[in-house]
Amino acid sequence: MAFLEISHLQKSFGTNRVVRDFNLDIEKGEFVSFLGPSGCGKTTVLRMVAGFEVPTSGSIRIDGQDIVNLKPNQRNIGMVFQAYALFPNMTVAQNVAFGLRVSRKSKAEIDATVTEMLDLIRLGHLRDRYPYQLSGGQQQRVALARALATKPQVLLLDEPLSALDAKIRVSLREEIRAIQQKLGITTIFVTHDQEEALSISDRIVVMSEGHAEQIGTPFDIYNRPASRFVASFVGTLNLLEGKVDDAQKGVIDLDGNRITLAQPLSGHKKGETLALALRPEAVTIDPHKAHDTAIEGTINDVHFLGSVIRTRVSLGKNNISLDMFNNPGSPPPARGEKVKISFAAKDLLVLGE
Ligand code: ATP
Repeated sequence: MAFLEISHLQKSFGTNRVVRDFNLDIEKGEFVSFLGPSGCGKTTVLRMVAGFEVPTSGSIRIDGQDIVNLKPNQRNIGMVFQAYALFPNMTVAQNVAFGLRVSRKSKAEIDATVTEMLDLIRLGHLRDRYPYQLSGGQQQRVALARALATKPQVLLLDEPLSALDAKIRVSLREEIRAIQQKLGITTIFVTHDQEEALSISDRIVVMSEGHAEQIGTPFDIYNRPASRFVASFVGTLNLLEGKVDDAQKGVIDLDGNRITLAQPLSGHKKGETLALALRPEAVTIDPHKAHDTAIEGTINDVHFLGSVIRTRVSLGKNNISLDMFNNPGSPPPARGEKVKISFAAKDLLVLGE
C-alpha cells in the first residue's frame, strides 16, 4: 500500500470535466511533480488533495485513510502557493507560528518550533521583519517554513517559484529539494516548467487534459517518452517525418536516406508515414564522435548560446537541431556549410499517438 493513493479521481465544473480518471500512488518521502501545460488540471488535483475542492468521484487516501470527507484543517497537509500568501500584518516569526497557535500549542513549543523552522530556511536573523521587508525568495521560504511548522504528513507546493526571477528560482528549488530530503516529507510539486520538474523530482506525472499521460522518473520521462505529447512537452526535441521502407527489417527513409532502426516496425506498412523523434544532444557533426548512422545535410541556422551552440541542419524536408559544446579554440560552424550529421539508430524514437 502506498502512503498517498489517488484512485479514479474525477472533477467536473458544470459540464467541464477537468480531471478524468486520475490515478497515482506516492511512496512515503517521495517528491513527485505534476508537469503539464496551463489548464491541464494540475492545480485542481492538488486542491482536491488539500481539501479545497471536492472530487466529483474517486478517492484520496493517506496512510490508508480516505480523506475526501475531511476538512482541509483535519488533513495534516502543508501547502505553499504561487503568490506570497503571508499575513502582511504579522512578522516572519508570527507567520511561521500561525498554524501552531491555531492548534493551541504551548508557548514554549511554539517558540522552539519557530526557531527550528527559521533555522531550516536560514532566516532566523529576519524573524522580526514584516513580509513587505523581504524579497520574493525570502517570502517563499517563510511560506515554506509556515507550511512545515505543523509537521504535516504531506507537503503540497503549487508553482511556488513561478513569481521569482530565474536565478532565485534555481537556488530556491535546490533549497526546497534539500529541505524535503532532510525532513523526508512526502511532497507534490506543481509546475509547468519542465526543467524544474526534471531537476528536483523523484518521479514526474506528465498531465494532459485532466489525466496522467505518463508517470516515471525524470530519466525515463525524458529518454523514454510514452507518447508524442510527452516527447514534445518535455525537453527540446526534433520531430521528424520519415517513411517505412522495409517494416520487417526496421528500415526507414528519411529524406532519401535509408536508416535501419534498432527494432523492426511491426504493424507498419511500406510507404507509411512515421513520426520520429531525436533529441538534439543525441546528434553530432563531429567526425571524431560519429555514430552508426551518418547522413548529409546543410547548416541553415546557428545560435550561439554560450556554453552550447545550437545548430540546425537541413536534410531536405526535415530539419535537425543539434547541440555542440563551445570550443574557444575553434569558431562555430557557418550557415550554408555542408556537414555529415551522425546519431545512434537506437536514439531515433518512433512516436505513438
Ligand atoms: P495552470 O498552470 O494555468 O494553473 P492547471 O493545470 O493548474 O493550469 P487548473 O487550474 O487545475 O489547471 O484548471 C483546469 C481547468 O479547470 C481550467 O480549464 C480551469 O479554467 C478550470 N477550473 C479550475 N477551477 C475552476 C473553478 N473553480 N470553476 C470552474 N472552472 C475551474
